[in-house]
Amino acid sequence: MTITLMESPSQTLQAQIQGQVITPEDPRYDEARLAWNRKVIQHPALIVVVKTVDDVQTAVTYARQHNLGVAVQGTGHGNVRPADDCLLILTKEMNGVTIDPIAQTAYVEAGVQWGAVLAAAQERGLAPLLGSSPTVGVVGYTLGGGLGWLGRKYGLSLDNVLQFELVTADGQRRIASATENSDLFWGLRGSGGSLGIVTSLVIRLFPVTTVYAGNLFYPIEMATDVFRHYRAWVANASDELTTSVLIMNFPPIPELPDFLRGQSFAMVRGCFCGPVEEGEKLLRHWRDWQAPLLDDFKTIPFTEAATISNDPIDPLPAFNSGAWLSELSDEAIEAIVRYGAGIDGPSPYIFAEVRHAGGAIGRVQPDTAVFGNRDAEFVLSVVGVAPHAEAHQQLVAYTGELKEALRPSLTGGVYMNFLEGVESQQRIRDGLAAGGYERVSQLKAQVDPDNLLRYSFNVSPAKM
Ligand SMILES: Cc1cc2nc3c(=O)[nH]c(=O)nc-3n(C[C@H](O)[C@H](O)[C@H](O)COP(=O)(O)OP(=O)(O)OC[C@H]3O[C@@H](n4cnc5c(N)ncnc54)[C@H](O)[C@@H]3O)c2cc1C
Repeated sequence: MTITLMESPSQTLQAQIQGQVITPEDPRYDEARLAWNRKVIQHPALIVVVKTVDDVQTAVTYARQHNLGVAVQGTGHGNVRPADDCLLILTKEMNGVTIDPIAQTAYVEAGVQWGAVLAAAQERGLAPLLGSSPTVGVVGYTLGGGLGWLGRKYGLSLDNVLQFELVTADGQRRIASATENSDLFWGLRGSGGSLGIVTSLVIRLFPVTTVYAGNLFYPIEMATDVFRHYRAWVANASDELTTSVLIMNFPPIPELPDFLRGQSFAMVRGCFCGPVEEGEKLLRHWRDWQAPLLDDFKTIPFTEAATISNDPIDPLPAFNSGAWLSELSDEAIEAIVRYGAGIDGPSPYIFAEVRHAGGAIGRVQPDTAVFGNRDAEFVLSVVGVAPHAEAHQQLVAYTGELKEALRPSLTGGVYMNFLEGVESQQRIRDGLAAGGYERVSQLKAQVDPDNLLRYSFNVSPAKM
């Protein structure tokens, strides 16, 4: 007698795709559900590691049939809402990158991290618009904006997407570009993953191979003067210069050299992508002013772009917040320095950084994409480590106080890539262009009326 065992639904799904289906009973489940941001604790009903666009379509159809929401994770650097009780798509195995040196573009699949695009593009003398970390995912970064060290010269990453390929919640594969589904193209650029699952994109590359870049370290006691001197420096900065000023509190960890371990500094960092001699001249503003404790601004190959910020590569329980600033007034500087360095003891932040935007970012017509706040020149980013709920709550309260102190200089807008969790869920309207939320919500009603994709930026479908 032959006994035929019934396949479970997840086994049926596994038989239909090239990637892997991982259930909560699977020994791989606990590792697969991790996000880079270790603060994110998530328990999906099912995890699907996709390999192809067909896999994505099949997974989405399965989720719809089984009444599951769909979350997507490239690397887990961003954190809006944990992927609980849903189908979590992991894109990390869709990692193709193809450079077209003639068109100066890159075709990039959904799971690719910036470091891979940088390496491939630099071999052809070209540069992508990556941010400070090479391990951040191209897609998540780009859907939220994408502010990197070439930003003032060439704009945001999302301003340089030529085409998205995506799968919408109905399982359809679509192209979104200036000429095809142009409304989706508009909406994808700023609204995160709320409109579809991006399977690949085509982005512009730029002829940059060498930059004048690095960091200046000043004593923390000089922080107010450093911020004011910075304000004067960038007042008429050329587009080739993209920089930031920050309070950095290096943690007391053994991996750091003595000079940095547990120490705080006022720092200036940045990247000049014009002629090197001009970059050197620009740095005189600092070198002729006060000798820094450490000055590593120098000519570097753009392959080393990640050394400018030296962001952590290993996963962390990170807290992130931020806001657009209308100005770097004396009062704003005072608040950032005070909260950045700590009030009645050490600051809970690893850093409080003000990045200089503007330039090409601000020259894009506001209705080109749903991304908002292009007219603000400075964006604040604060980052702390929150290994447990109490530390997170402390950081939330501390940041609330900082923002209160900064109130006169806040535009009311936020840069979604620098937010996370509850704040990200609550502030989406403030991250978008005027009227953008309503329009993207109409689009959402067309392509995802049941809000299957509800784990990324929080856009509800409009009532039709
Ligand atoms: C160390 C560090 C450095 C950073 N530096 C910068 C910087 O210099 N400039 C800047 O602008 N930002 C920066 N960020 C912020 C970063 O851009 C965001 O956290 C971004 O969301 C990360 O994207 P990801 O794909 O790596 O992460 P994920 O958490 O995997 O994804 C982020 C969001 O995008 C969605 N998403 C991912 N892939 C897809 C897809 N294929 N289709 C649809 N939706 C998708 C996810 O659902 C999630 O909502 C930094 C963050 C960190 C932690």
